[in-house]
Amino acid sequence: MTNISLLNDKITALQNLLTSDCDLQKFLDNVDDLQQSSLPWLISAGYPKNYAQAFLLKIANCLLSKYQYQNRHEYLAAYPYALIVDPANSCPLHCPGCLHNKIFQEKIGSDWPTGILSEERFNRFMEAFGPYASTILFYNWGEPLLNQKTPAFIKTAKSYLLNTTLSSNLSVPFDAEALVLSGLDYMIMSVDGATSESYGRYRQGGKFDLAIENIRRLAAAKEKHNLATPTLAWQFLLFEHNKNEVEQAKIMARELGVNEIRFAQPYEVLWEPELRPAREVKEEVCTTNTNCGDVKHFDILTNLSSSFTQKFTENWGDKISNLDQGVFSRRTGKTCKWLYSTLVMDANGRYLPCCYAPRQDDSGFTYIFGNQLGDEDIPPFNSPCYRFSRKHFVWLSEIANTNGIAPRMETGKATTYCVSCPSKNSSPLVNDQQLQRYISSLDWQRVLTQESIRIIAEWNEKS
Ligand code: SF4
Ligand code: SF4
Repeated sequence: MTNISLLNDKITALQNLLTSDCDLQKFLDNVDDLQQSSLPWLISAGYPKNYAQAFLLKIANCLLSKYQYQNRHEYLAAYPYALIVDPANSCPLHCPGCLHNKIFQEKIGSDWPTGILSEERFNRFMEAFGPYASTILFYNWGEPLLNQKTPAFIKTAKSYLLNTTLSSNLSVPFDAEALVLSGLDYMIMSVDGATSESYGRYRQGGKFDLAIENIRRLAAAKEKHNLATPTLAWQFLLFEHNKNEVEQAKIMARELGVNEIRFAQPYEVLWEPELRPAREVKEEVCTTNTNCGDVKHFDILTNLSSSFTQKFTENWGDKISNLDQGVFSRRTGKTCKWLYSTLVMDANGRYLPCCYAPRQDDSGFTYIFGNQLGDEDIPPFNSPCYRFSRKHFVWLSEIANTNGIAPRMETGKATTYCVSCPSKNSSPLVNDQQLQRYISSLDWQRVLTQESIRIIAEWNEKS
């Protein structure tokens, strides 16, 4: 127990540095100390060495991300802890409001070339970011099951101890057994209706019968292997035209073996007045099936990536010499949490800062923050666009005091989309509660107090 309390004491000490005016070098040195001194203690608590290294790398990265976010640093030593990857840029459907819809293309347009993610590209992405991240979503603007390698991608992500989520319209053929055996944690199934007629109003081009049959096959594969995961979550967007099918859908969900059904409000599509969101029907999540196997198929200990051991030998404190110290800021003010926590990659290897889609006519704004085929010497999370965007928010918060000149991009287009972004996300992709659940799901709560878990996961501003 002594060792365990020392580990938690080190986390508390880092929290104290977070709320003081600690400089980066000191913070990095303390993160290194947390890692190196805690490793033998975790091993003596029963964790295999590489699993303990993975644990320490991930919590160190969470704490460092939080520190650099709170201080509004422009150049990060931390890595993104949330990842989004599109296994395929295409989709056979054309839902209104999506870039795969013809009217969307005419009215808004997008810069979204088709493409299929290769295993080589995904593996490079995982090698760079997997050891530090906690979560990966396998969907953004495409149908992930168009890529037959998607179960292999999930398996690789699990070897990096990532929580995995996939969202599909299920209107394509795929290998249901390979998917449930991949180790996938959570599966969102987008089926907005309990009948073919209502379903097709929004999921244009979709095949209702195939989607339902695919749900059946997924549930059967889980049952066959007695698997607790993936959680099968039917997502039902509520429109005026399908709100009368809510109860029917709940019955179907139980019969199909779905674990939960989520009724959610869609975004309004302005040019589709016939498709009105059902405002008066409440959003809800109903558990429909708890009898869903008890075996976690994926054995994390035998499948763990070997890269944790190598990454563990790299000192965080040494990274400061690679950073441009002249551009560190230590400030407060509004910024976007995605710029400090998340990295998105499409199937063609383009890096984006969040889940918006790039436009063709972007009027001098760029939304593509890098490219895997680009200059690999520039770490994607510190590309000129990332740095510019982080600096932009610092500048905005200080404009009243400085009368300064707005920062300019050093290369490429005049500015990034963040400058004109209406959202400027104050919520990260992975919130505090999700991060806490992630830590608990990996049995790390055995050696962490609730207070330590809160410190690692909470991104609130310092007072
Ligand atoms: S299923 Fe998803 S990706 Fe495909 S068109 Fe509809 S919203 Fe877009
Ligand atoms: S400011 Fe807007 S465009 Fe930029 S990362 Fe945040 S949400 Fe995305």
